Amino acid sequence: MPLGPSEIPGESLTAPVIFVGTASPAELVHIDVRGKVAVQHVTPQAHTVFERTSTVQHARDLFRRGAVAVVNVIDQPGNGRARDFANCGGPCFNLGGRDGVFLEGVMDRAAEAGSLGELRMTISLETERRFGLRGANSVAIIPGSRSDESIVLNAHVDGWFDAAGDNADGLAVLMAIARHFARPENQPQRTLVFVASAGHHSPGLNGPRNFVAMNPQVAQNSALVLNIEHVAQRGLSPARSVAGDGYREYVTDSGEAPIVAGITNRSSFLEGLIRQGIERYGTNFVSGGSSMASGEGGGYRSLGVPIVTFMQAPPLYHTSGEVVEMISTPGLERMARFLVFFIAEVDRAPRERIEGG
Ligand SMILES: [Zn+2]
Repeated sequence: MPLGPSEIPGESLTAPVIFVGTASPAELVHIDVRGKVAVQHVTPQAHTVFERTSTVQHARDLFRRGAVAVVNVIDQPGNGRARDFANCGGPCFNLGGRDGVFLEGVMDRAAEAGSLGELRMTISLETERRFGLRGANSVAIIPGSRSDESIVLNAHVDGWFDAAGDNADGLAVLMAIARHFARPENQPQRTLVFVASAGHHSPGLNGPRNFVAMNPQVAQNSALVLNIEHVAQRGLSPARSVAGDGYREYVTDSGEAPIVAGITNRSSFLEGLIRQGIERYGTNFVSGGSSMASGEGGGYRSLGVPIVTFMQAPPLYHTSGEVVEMISTPGLERMARFLVFFIAEVDRAPRERIEGG
């Protein structure tokens, strides 16, 4: 998987290959990477977002030391393609688990035979830049019985690969919530504003900041923003058995990967609702509280109201493994039921409780 904005002049290069381990400074002091394709090994502890800083910094360091390309061998299932670790300072590529085992095996055999110095890699890459792409937000409103305040609910609709977990599951839950509150018997007091936002993965196309700028009256009335982002992907862990070639298979759990509940103002009322959600609906929230509003939630900061973000960090995030089979159907239901409860409680609460400690 080539990582943007990789480009190879002449669209092809051939160079010696060198294995650099995790490419830490202590390792690189022993290794001369000049004029070579450097192969670094990445073992994600959960999803690759947690490895971004070290992997990209190490790749940049490799280019500074003279490498002509960097290959990241990522311990992931099969030969899935992974999108993370872009902007690494030169032509960078991710290699999936099985091909990674093969490549590292070839380097080991060549080293044992004393011929590692003769090993070459040829990389071909055609690139194209596209301009004028468009993405649109979709907005739907369920009027409340009082019109002076609203709750904004957001799920981003763009994604990489099949995007089942980032963020088709979040969009599915958003639509289930809309269906529930659209029934006359479930009419909320505060107006519900549903935003299916675009441009999350390609900044500049559209998204929450544009929604706020283009709908000032609707946005300024909000009492709370809720961002639903990756909420029902199943957990994944390495299997115990290791194949003869060293490749480790993976197994999925029946339940969901852990979910972080970020509450920007750490309101005790809102955090209490999270704890009740675990007890009532079995939602797999992590135990530690958080004030994060990463992802799409951060686009609403200008409103100055509490932002609540529900977000998973599953291992297949941003990979071609994000297929529908990785989504937990009971997990979708757990999250939809919990959020209907959460929104109904927030809707009944006075502003001071939502904002208070
Ligand atoms: Zn996302």
